[in-house]
Amino acid sequence: MIAYLGRIVHDNDAESKLDDDVSSISKSLDLQGSIENGDVSSLASKDFGGLYSVKPLFLIKPSGAEDISRVVKLASRTSNLTVAARGNGHSINGQAMAEGGFVIDMRSTEKNHFEFLPINGSHYIDVSGGALWEDVLTRCVSRYGYAPRSWTDYLSLTVGGTLSNAGVSGQAFRYGPQTSNVTELEVVTGKGEITICSETLNSELFFGVLGGLGQFGVITRARIKLQQAPDMVRWIRVVYSEFEEFTRDAEFLVTQKEGESFDYVEGFVFCNNDDPFNGWPSVPLDPGHEFNPTHISQTAGSILYCLEVAFHYRNSDHPTVDTAVNGLLGRLRFVEGLKSQVDVSYTKFLLRVNRAEEQVKANGPGDGPHPWLNLFVSKSDVVNFNRTVFKTMLKDGVGGPMLIYPLLRSKWDDRTSVVLPEGEIFYIVALLRFVPNGPSVEKLVAQNREIVNWCIKVGLDFKLYLPHYQSKGDWERHFGNRWSRFVERKASFDPMAILAPGQNIFRRDPSNIIISREF
Ligand code: FAD
Repeated sequence: MIAYLGRIVHDNDAESKLDDDVSSISKSLDLQGSIENGDVSSLASKDFGGLYSVKPLFLIKPSGAEDISRVVKLASRTSNLTVAARGNGHSINGQAMAEGGFVIDMRSTEKNHFEFLPINGSHYIDVSGGALWEDVLTRCVSRYGYAPRSWTDYLSLTVGGTLSNAGVSGQAFRYGPQTSNVTELEVVTGKGEITICSETLNSELFFGVLGGLGQFGVITRARIKLQQAPDMVRWIRVVYSEFEEFTRDAEFLVTQKEGESFDYVEGFVFCNNDDPFNGWPSVPLDPGHEFNPTHISQTAGSILYCLEVAFHYRNSDHPTVDTAVNGLLGRLRFVEGLKSQVDVSYTKFLLRVNRAEEQVKANGPGDGPHPWLNLFVSKSDVVNFNRTVFKTMLKDGVGGPMLIYPLLRSKWDDRTSVVLPEGEIFYIVALLRFVPNGPSVEKLVAQNREIVNWCIKVGLDFKLYLPHYQSKGDWERHFGNRWSRFVERKASFDPMAILAPGQNIFRRDPSNIIISREF
């Protein structure tokens, strides 16, 4: 084990060995929090994807940024140890794991920060990087009547985890992703420095960390923009048989001014049959409603499209809601008779996927592998993508939602580390596979690879969201002309490549020079 730990290199270049047992490591780290031995069965070796499992050396439950800084500094004095922040482990491909390294359970810091900040007429909340978005929602709304503006569909994700990717949902067309809705961060860099950063203070670190896949620092606090929370939401689904009409209406809605459109716009593809997961029953919002397929024309194909929208209102606005919503719906070309709607409270709406998850868990095998695939596809290529991927490769569905909806590039900040397709409008595509029965997980992973390879082969303008690549060449292609900036940021903020090794972008090199990974 001592050999496994490698050497600690001291400033005077003398070598000493690190003891391998928890108590002596704990003593040398002098943590306020706690430390446990790594174990393949512990949470540090697992994630939502269920495709990878590697054993860390230690699982750290830090009390805050100071503890994280100590761990990173200790790792930097060895020749090989790495450090992975683990949010809520909702990655698919082991991105929050550290083989033989330290995994930091960020959830142990979730209560450290929660401060409501009115600043110059705007409102913000300071929250911990390890806080779950569902807690941010419920605490913000119940205490202050305010809420963040941009969300993910599912809220049992941590603030630091989604900010390290982007954080996208049906509000992003208006406010941008979550990375566009944060004004200040506290970060522990790969050098172990605790640094405050913003657009004007240490801005390269600030923008680097946003969408930075955990490569440049561990987010310990984030300042999030808020808006007044509405009381209620009218949540509506309408159905299309033609992709061109679906995209025309979705693009129309996301390009209207605030106040002249819905407050949330998403969409999904489903099968034109009665399959309970992939077909008609996946559309109605109210369990009392039934999808009536007689409204669908005989000429419709095997795949249909559902536009999902929501309209926010306050209880006092109730009398005017019908007029506003019907005015908007009147401009859309969905299949007449195929509309489903419910009115729910704002928090119930935002917690809709958490509720669905609880139902799935209660009704059957919840914890199987999830070989999910997420992409951003340029508007210029989305018709081709629909024809080849949805209508051909995935015509029988994926055993779960197949999301597709448009986003606007101008709402994203180019200075962050996120990379996007060209052009103002692009679509997020999410293949959310649940596989209790059906094809083997290997087949589904192979199908994901086939889709990505096809996108590359035909030169589609696309990027993976929540990317997962195995080779340096793939990462270079993914980042394109942003690759050199990404490497420079790594050299500045984590020059020994200590952080987030599970992303497989850089590897620690004993000579302390970062090199991108070759497999
Ligand atoms: P983890 O999986 O624990 O970590 C992800 C990466 O971020 C790792 O590399 C980790 O080292 C790093 N990291 C974690 N915390 C920090 C931190 N504090 N500082 C720096 N780096 C950190 N995404 C969307 O955009 N929209 C959605 O609607 C959406 N829905 C989802 C629903 C489900 C059921 C699942 C499983 C995922 C969904 N995602 C969605 C994807 C999700 O945003 C990412 O998987 C995200 O990384 C998960 O957050 P986490 O807290 O579990 O992070």
